[in-house]
Amino acid sequence: MSLHHAYDPDNIFAKILRGEIPSANVWEDEHVLAFMDVFPQSEGHVLVISKTSTAPSLLEIEPEALDRLTAAVQRTARAVEKALSPDGFQIMQLNGEAGGQTVFHLHFHIIPRWTDRPMKGHGHAPMADAAVLRALADRIAAALD
Ligand code: AMP
Repeated sequence: MSLHHAYDPDNIFAKILRGEIPSANVWEDEHVLAFMDVFPQSEGHVLVISKTSTAPSLLEIEPEALDRLTAAVQRTARAVEKALSPDGFQIMQLNGEAGGQTVFHLHFHIIPRWTDRPMKGHGHAPMADAAVLRALADRIAAALD
């Protein structure tokens, strides 16, 4: 699949935005949604997406929507840090199939890291328990400024 392709309105994140499939949401406003990755590479792995842009990748997003998205990533990362006290965290953003992207609605990953805990590989993590994700989402949400 080419790096440049049309937005698929039935991609999994579009379905989450329409409420057609469940998600463990951390917070949202009219512009962005932060929710738990269902195959977390580490405890507290959060995804942040735009609700207004249908950009498949970083290449297409409108500058204003990107500004809102990156501000949301920072706000969410601050809450993750406050709630879970990781030793560090990674921001990951993949573009195109060859870049490792699997869902073609632009998103940022926030992946907390602990020095004594290995991180699971992208695409190699088991599905998390929905109740565990909900509890983590609640802890992170409670730490939002
Ligand atoms: P990427 O490979 O960068 O496109 O990331 C897509 C991410 O979406 C992966 O980390 C998946 O684990 C995650 N994912 C896939 N389906 C769902 C879902 N239904 N709810 C939450 N996260 C999902």
